[in-house]
Amino acid sequence: MEEKILNELLEILACPICKGDIEYKQDENKLICNKCRLKFPIKEGIPILLEEEAEKF
Ligand SMILES: [Zn+2]
Repeated sequence: MEEKILNELLEILACPICKGDIEYKQDENKLICNKCRLKFPIKEGIPILLEEEAEKF
Protein backbone atom coordinates (compact mmCIF):
# COMPACT_ATOMS: atom_id res chain seq x y z
CA MET A 1 0.00 0.00 0.00
CA GLU A 2 1.24 3.49 -0.76
CA GLU A 3 2.75 5.09 2.31
CA LYS A 4 1.02 8.46 2.08
CA ILE A 5 -2.42 6.91 1.72
CA LEU A 6 -1.63 4.46 4.45
CA ASN A 7 -0.62 7.14 6.94
CA GLU A 8 -3.80 9.07 6.21
CA LEU A 9 -5.85 5.94 6.67
CA LEU A 10 -4.20 5.09 9.95
CA GLU A 11 -5.11 8.52 11.31
CA ILE A 12 -8.77 7.92 10.51
CA LEU A 13 -9.11 4.25 11.26
CA ALA A 14 -9.57 2.74 14.68
CA CYS A 15 -9.98 -0.73 16.03
CA PRO A 16 -13.68 -1.68 15.74
CA ILE A 17 -13.63 -3.34 19.15
CA CYS A 18 -11.70 -1.03 21.49
CA LYS A 19 -11.77 2.09 19.22
CA GLY A 20 -8.04 2.41 19.85
CA ASP A 21 -5.22 3.06 17.43
CA ILE A 22 -4.21 0.47 14.92
CA GLU A 23 -0.81 -0.15 13.39
CA TYR A 24 0.19 -1.34 9.97
CA LYS A 25 2.36 -4.41 9.82
CA GLN A 26 4.13 -4.24 6.50
CA ASP A 27 5.58 -7.74 6.32
CA GLU A 28 2.11 -9.28 6.70
CA ASN A 29 0.15 -6.45 5.05
CA LYS A 30 -2.22 -6.39 8.00
CA LEU A 31 -3.55 -3.86 10.45
CA ILE A 32 -2.95 -4.66 14.08
CA CYS A 33 -4.56 -3.73 17.37
CA ASN A 34 -2.05 -4.48 20.09
CA LYS A 35 -4.64 -4.00 22.81
CA CYS A 36 -7.11 -6.56 21.45
CA ARG A 37 -4.31 -8.65 19.94
CA LEU A 38 -6.11 -8.85 16.63
CA LYS A 39 -4.85 -8.66 13.07
CA PHE A 40 -7.16 -7.26 10.43
CA PRO A 41 -6.64 -8.17 6.78
CA ILE A 42 -6.24 -5.75 3.90
CA LYS A 43 -7.95 -7.04 0.79
CA GLU A 44 -7.27 -5.35 -2.55
CA GLY A 45 -6.03 -2.28 -0.69
CA ILE A 46 -9.10 -2.04 1.53
CA PRO A 47 -8.70 -2.59 5.26
CA ILE A 48 -11.28 -5.04 6.53
CA LEU A 49 -11.94 -3.84 10.05
CA LEU A 50 -14.39 -6.50 11.11
CA GLU A 51 -14.07 -8.62 14.21
CA GLU A 52 -15.16 -11.75 12.33
CA GLU A 53 -12.41 -11.22 9.73
CA ALA A 54 -9.70 -10.61 12.32
CA GLU A 55 -7.11 -13.10 13.39
CA LYS A 56 -5.85 -13.42 16.97
CA PHE A 57 -2.14 -13.33 17.76
ZN1 LIG B 1 -8.63 -3.08 19.72
